[in-house]
Parts: sequence; structure tokens; C-alpha cells
Amino acid sequence: MDIDLSSEDLAFRDEVKEFLDSNAYKNGEDYNAWRLNWFKLAREKGGWDVPKWPVTFGGPGWTPTQHYIWEQQTAAAQIPWDLPFGLSMLAPVLMNYASKEQQDRFLPDIRERKVNWCQGYSEPGAGSDLANLKTKAVLADDGSHYTVTGTKIWTTLAHIADWMFCLVRTNDSGKKQTGITFLLIPMKQDGIEVKPIITLGGAHSVNMVYLNEVKVPVENRIGEQDKAWTYAKGLLQHERTGLAGISRSIVALEKLKKQAMTVKRGNATLMDDPAFRAKVAELEVDLLAVEFTELRSLAAAAGGSDPGPESSILKLKGTEIQQRVQKLTVEAGGIYSAAWGALPVGHKFAKGGMSGYLASRAYTIYGGASEVQKDVIAKNVLGIKKSSS
Ligand SMILES: Cc1cc2nc3c(=O)[nH]c(=O)nc-3n(C[C@H](O)[C@H](O)[C@H](O)COP(=O)(O)OP(=O)(O)OC[C@H]3O[C@@H](n4cnc5c(N)ncnc54)[C@H](O)[C@@H]3O)c2cc1C
Repeated sequence: MDIDLSSEDLAFRDEVKEFLDSNAYKNGEDYNAWRLNWFKLAREKGGWDVPKWPVTFGGPGWTPTQHYIWEQQTAAAQIPWDLPFGLSMLAPVLMNYASKEQQDRFLPDIRERKVNWCQGYSEPGAGSDLANLKTKAVLADDGSHYTVTGTKIWTTLAHIADWMFCLVRTNDSGKKQTGITFLLIPMKQDGIEVKPIITLGGAHSVNMVYLNEVKVPVENRIGEQDKAWTYAKGLLQHERTGLAGISRSIVALEKLKKQAMTVKRGNATLMDDPAFRAKVAELEVDLLAVEFTELRSLAAAAGGSDPGPESSILKLKGTEIQQRVQKLTVEAGGIYSAAWGALPVGHKFAKGGMSGYLASRAYTIYGGASEVQKDVIAKNVLGIKKSSS
């Protein structure tokens, strides 16, 4: 997308480029040491390690355009791996609802990437209908701790997590949404068992987490007992915005176009095929539209507030676009995409195409399935009321 950048924005873009180029990973370097140092240097730039955090918590206070520039530049560059659970999902909840003591206890480790978090929301029987969750937490008579028992499912990276932020039921009476509490649970303790779930793409990223009479100190409760539904929904809005992956799709689509130019079609290439070109063009147009929506959402997040129900538009369209890019990549690779591992023949880029495509089926499920996003958009963005019939 071409937006008119002011001379300040152009200077900022050059500064970002310079930072990314001069701190890129060099072959042979200790990856972990490079990763931690990268975040340290980004911090020294004035909060570049936590771009979306508000200034009061050490963020850079960028304008929406600066955020956009950062997203664009980092999507195309090699930056260290980073997980969203602590940084982009839990941190805003802590900033908005936790006590000062809890903020001081948890935010620094999240910022320094010292701990891995996972998200214990979904349960068998509570996915789209999250408020149906049954994992029970009982407060001890002396008020010192909760005893938590239940099962969480699809918990991404629970097997490497140090902590889980978890929704539990503390009250069965009244509306389902009113008896939910938000707890922070250390993963390495008695009573917690993590079992892998291998997904369609062949990877182990999600798990079952069994909690059996797990003791959680009351200091690990965020906000009030029974009142966590509001905090939980705010977190989901941050999650949905992050899942859209617009800048990554732009980079992936550019890559795909180059790859398609290497695939022969008679005397020309796949990129000259009108049918293929039309699919690429449709994707480019949709990407452009969703990029503008992202800019509006960045403006809200830059102010420190939850992004709002519009995040569902980003989640819905952004994940569909990611899937379409994966699908076209498989199409461009042809039969070579179907192989699971590397092949001695065919297009190099086709390697892993099918497992990536299969894994991408989950994009329109996690963070709230597409049908649910459409419901949120209808109700909270368009203001359409459910018919009574
Ligand atoms: C790869 C992956 C990673 C995940 N990671 C995590 C994680 O780290 N932490 C976590 O807590 N959860 C995680 N999830 C869970 C995810 O959030 C849920 O799978 C999702 O919310 C859907 O819930 P469900 O699987 O129970 O499906 P269901 O809610 O049973 O839905 C089944 C189908 O019915 C449709 N449907 C449901 N309700 C409606 C409705 N009202 N209107 C129309 N259609 C409807 C859905 O769209 C879907 O197609 C992950 C899921 C996947 C696949």
C-alpha cells in the first residue's frame, strides 16, 4: 500500500531499516544470545522491544503510521522468534486489571522474554461457547489459595510453557459469564499433566492440559473473583488483531509471485497464466482493503485501549488471506507440493507446501472460528439484532 509518508516517517523508516540490517542474525552466531541481545538493543532504542505497549509501561508511543512502518519492515526482515501469549495477550490484561504488585511481578519477565506463557481458555465443550467452561476453582476457607481441577484443550505450546493464564469457574449460579475468574498458574507443579495433540500438518504445537487439584495462591488471581469475562474478552481482541498477519501475507504474496515466475508454462511462466494472475490480483485487492482496516486498529492499540470488535474483521479476513496464499503456493508447486519432505526434483519452494497448507486450516478456527467472528461483526460492528423467530 502506498500511503504518503511525511519526511519524519521516511526518516523513521530508514532508522528501522538500519536497525534491522545492522542487527541481523549472522551465520554461526549463538541464536539464543543473539535473540536476547536483539531485544535488549531494541529496548535501548526507546521501547522498540514492546512496540504495542503504552508509553506508561515502556512502549515507544508510536503513531499508527510508525506502527505500520514497523510491521512492514519487520515482516520482511529476519527478527528473533517471539511468542504472543505473554507479550501481546496477557500483558494488556495485566496493565488494565492487575494490581501494581502483580504488574511489577510479571511484566518485567514478559518484557525480557524470560518466561513462556500459554493460554488456558478452551476446554472440551467450551470453544466457541467459551463461557461454558467447567474447570473448577474452589477458594480455600482461609482465602489463601484456589484448588483447580479440570481439562484444557488445544493449549498451544503448553509443553514449553512456564506459566498458563487460565479461565476457571468459581461460581455456577446465574449467567454463565458471571462466574469466571482469571488465574495465573505455574506449569511446573504437581497435579498438571500435559499431553501432546498432533495436528493435520504433522506438528506438535497443541496439547491437552489436565489439572488435578492444582493449588494456586490467591495472589495469582487477576482482578475480582467471578468478574473475568470482561478481561477475557479484551484479551481475545488483542489476540485476534495479532492473528491477522497482514504484513506477513504481503511478504508471502510477493515471494509467491517470484516463485510463480520460475514455474514454466509452455514458453511462458505460471505468472503469465491469466487464471493464476487473476487469483493473485484478487488477493492483492483484498489485502489492500484489510491493510487499511489494520491501520485503524493500530491507532486504537497505540492508545493502550483494547482494539474493539473490529479486531474480528481483521481476524476473519486476515486468516482467510493467509490460507489463500498457502493454497496458491501449493498450486504453484504442483505435484511437488504434495511431498512431505525435501525432494531431489521439482521446485525447491514447494518443499513443505502441503504440511503448511494443512496447518493453515487451523487459522480460521483458533482465536475464535470464522463463523463466530461473523457473529461478532454482525452484532457489535454492524449493530444487527438477532431475529426472535
Ligand atoms: C491449532 C489450534 C491452536 C489453538 N490454541 C489455543 C490455545 O493456545 N489456547 C486456547 O485456549 N485455545 C486454543 N485453540 C482453541 C480454539 O480457540 C477453538 O478451537 C475455537 O475457539 C473453536 O472451538 P471448538 O474447537 O470447541 O469448536 P466448536 O466451538 O465446537 O465449533 C465447531 C464448529 O461450529 C461452528 N460454530 C460454533 N458456534 C457457532 C455459532 N454460534 N454460529 C455459527 N457457527 C458456530 C464453529 O465455527 C465451528 O466451525 C486452538 C485451536 C487450534 C485448532
